[in-house]
Amino acid sequence: MLDCIVIGAGPGGLVCTKELLEQGVREVVCLEQASDVGGVFANTYDNLVLTSSTTISMFSDFWSGDGNQHKFWTKDEAVDYWKRYAKHFGVLERIRFNSKVVAVIPQESEGWQVQLASGDTLVSKRVALAIGNNAIPKYPAWKNLLTEVEYFHSKEYRNADKFVGKNVLAVGGGESGSDVALETSRVASNCWVSLRDTAGWLADRWRGKEAADAFVNRVIWGIPRNWGEFFSKVIHRARLIDKDPANKDFNAVNKIVVELNKKNKARNVVWGSFGTKTYSLPKAIVQHGCKVVGEIVKVEDGGKTLHTADGETLRNVDAVVFSTGYKNHVSFLPEELKETDPRSLYKHMFHPKYRDKLVWIGWARPNLGSQFPIMEMQARLFAMICTGERSLPAPAEMERVTCADRAAWLEQFDHNAHRVRSLVDYRIYLDDIASVIGCEPPLWKYLFLHPRIWRHMIFGGTQATQFRLQGPGNKESLAQEILLKIPPHSLAAPVFKALVISIVVEPLNYIFKALLPDTSALKPSKLKKQSPMTSNQNV
Ligand SMILES: Cc1cc2nc3c(=O)[nH]c(=O)nc-3n(C[C@H](O)[C@H](O)[C@H](O)COP(=O)(O)OP(=O)(O)OC[C@H]3O[C@@H](n4cnc5c(N)ncnc54)[C@H](O)[C@@H]3O)c2cc1C
Repeated sequence: MLDCIVIGAGPGGLVCTKELLEQGVREVVCLEQASDVGGVFANTYDNLVLTSSTTISMFSDFWSGDGNQHKFWTKDEAVDYWKRYAKHFGVLERIRFNSKVVAVIPQESEGWQVQLASGDTLVSKRVALAIGNNAIPKYPAWKNLLTEVEYFHSKEYRNADKFVGKNVLAVGGGESGSDVALETSRVASNCWVSLRDTAGWLADRWRGKEAADAFVNRVIWGIPRNWGEFFSKVIHRARLIDKDPANKDFNAVNKIVVELNKKNKARNVVWGSFGTKTYSLPKAIVQHGCKVVGEIVKVEDGGKTLHTADGETLRNVDAVVFSTGYKNHVSFLPEELKETDPRSLYKHMFHPKYRDKLVWIGWARPNLGSQFPIMEMQARLFAMICTGERSLPAPAEMERVTCADRAAWLEQFDHNAHRVRSLVDYRIYLDDIASVIGCEPPLWKYLFLHPRIWRHMIFGGTQATQFRLQGPGNKESLAQEILLKIPPHSLAAPVFKALVISIVVEPLNYIFKALLPDTSALKPSKLKKQSPMTSNQNV
């Protein structure tokens, strides 16, 4: 019997297999239905560029390359990184490609029987599901009325070639939907984007020359979540002030971003939404005349005529592209698990009944930041549970924690928590898993002993490396080396200076003043600085 079967060789499956091997779980097999690694990125639209920078996307202990800190991988570059990672950590030889899992059946005695499409059967004590959530496209019900127009899901979309000169409706304004809108509006005769409510919280990839996700740092992410409304207003102001006299498009794009973000109805606005970390949609609007319309409520002429909730009529529609997400359905699991809600799982990972015998990797989607550090932390925790170094709480406690976590996510994200069932707060979730593992970043120790590294940890984008400094699985010297290469946010220097002055210099000044006798009146320089009026009075 195997110790663990990992299903899927996307980034989640690779990091999970690597952690299991590294922590000493030897009998591990990774099953992948495709013929190569990379998961969704190996088979998506041609011009995909990741929305999280290399700094944030990299795994903790495999450097993404000098000079790449502000870069965003293309899909090929991302797959290349994961291939090198898998090779480096001996994961490749554990993967069985072209092995589609068709059934995972709990055995009466112990473990799971895993059946493959080839007819082979494997038996394992544990199963890790790293199958992503991008398999079964989800559509609005009116899709079935589209008999006279072509339609596609973003899963099938590769490029806009077939939309040249056409009238195209893109449905959905998430990251894929925004990219579809931009590419299509460049070549189409007309491009509309239909949004049910908002396009999430729009944030760009870059801020000047730096990767904007450096702002996902401990200083900014220390701002309380219930200050979200105020914080969002500050961001709106900053965007509108950030003008470039030479670039009218830049100013117009920023204006549209603020308009779209102002429509966001989440109570905690920026802290209560999922991020759409690309300006593709506002660029499509400003640069190529793409038009945002409301939800489609009526279909006529087999889809040639569409009516929106805000009273518009779209005529002569030729094609519709749905970027409307995916169904949460895993066909090969037992009936009771096929449509598992991520929020019913302990830490979005463990089922109360199957406990440590079954784990979901990658079912916690961060609001901003990146999915990959989350997968790595989950994989580390799961591997520790497999080796017995950590154990899950008793069922009642597991249930209590799951309920409390669910309530906290619903409170922070309100309606968005229902819309995206796996949504979590990036930094809070990472720190939470770190506390279960026991690898929280030693911030106080580093403030005093390694202030330079501390500065990078506090002002650089929060990613997986800072959880390698102490505790189980630590790789302190490698982590220090990598952390020094993580660029701190450009606002770090002035804020750091202000902090040092207010926390160190000012209090010391105060203490000295309190301890030393007041001799200021005797100092001629002090006298010189006084105004004539005060001098006169002193005299
Ligand atoms: C277009 C797109 C862009 C994204 N960009 C970013 C980004 O920039 N930054 C970010 O942090 N996140 C991004 N994400 C979100 C997330 O990081 C990705 O979805 C990521 O690929 C998830 O990795 P995964 O390994 O969990 O799943 P996947 O990449 O989906 O991999 C799952 C693997 O499981 C295999 N599999 C599934 N079923 C079976 C079966 N029955 N038998 C055997 N194998 C099976 C699949 O073939 C696949 O290889 C993006 C998602 C999408 C869809």
